[in-house]
Amino acid sequence: MEAGENEMDLSPAVTKDGIEIAIYANAGSIADVEKAISRGADGIGLLRTEFIFMQGKKFPGEDEQYNLYLQCAKICHGKILTIRTLDIGADKQLPYYTMKAEENPVMGLRGIRFSLSSPDIFKTQLRAVLRTAAYGNIRLMFPMITSIEEYDLACTLLEECKTELRNEGISFDESLRPGIMIETPAAIILADDFAQTAAFFSIGTNDLTQYLLAVDRNNPYSTNACDIFHPAVVKSISKIVSSSKKYGIDVSVCGEMASDINATGLLLRLGVRKLSITCHSIPLIKKQIRKQIINS
Ligand code: PEP
Ligand code: MG
Repeated sequence: MEAGENEMDLSPAVTKDGIEIAIYANAGSIADVEKAISRGADGIGLLRTEFIFMQGKKFPGEDEQYNLYLQCAKICHGKILTIRTLDIGADKQLPYYTMKAEENPVMGLRGIRFSLSSPDIFKTQLRAVLRTAAYGNIRLMFPMITSIEEYDLACTLLEECKTELRNEGISFDESLRPGIMIETPAAIILADDFAQTAAFFSIGTNDLTQYLLAVDRNNPYSTNACDIFHPAVVKSISKIVSSSKKYGIDVSVCGEMASDINATGLLLRLGVRKLSITCHSIPLIKKQIRKQIINS
């Protein structure tokens, strides 16, 4: 019987030659987190927090976010929960907030750029994540990073939040250090620099492919051109993995490529040992991993 989407597979994903691969899940709702953990995910490698911002009529407050993140952390029960800060702009718009019209929004105010341009909204989210991290195995992650300065600015705001919480006597995780999504050509080129600064890497192959190959990921005419097997994508992943190994930081792949059974062997041979995948592909990808021999 083929592994189906409703199957659960609680056994570890180990290759034929005995290498264990961590299988995290991508989640865009609390139901996704529940589904992922019950189907055998080792944790959540990408919590797309946009869902929290999409459901109301205004930006969610700190306590509202804290309660939702805490709910997710409780479901994860000590397993990793990677919370990505708000990644709106371009294809992801909020119903109650009109962004300024941009000629080319995919190249415009999105991801971390939006957060840095709206420090109050960003700090509300950071405070909620810091508070959750006092109770769960939380990782914090910034999307669409293109420069060290951008990462440092985001970290400065994080440190400001820590100072505020400390002064207010509210529990939080002092040691929380953010990781980054690697999804822009600049982040690939600066991978060595980022590996000495960021806590971990998560490779977002959806945007990485789009920006690397200059093809719109949502344009139906470029479906074939948005090629995750393009040599430039493959070489980029190899470079990111080697930078992460050189400086001893964690790396995983969370773009759709990680959920594609045709890419599993390639990613493992490129040195990837952690995948973050859609909930329904957990059994399929685990099955695929068990067929692989990496060190042949
Ligand atoms: C990616 O870009 O690969 C990714 C995982 O982020 P998103 O699809 O949410 O942009
Ligand atoms: Mg992305």
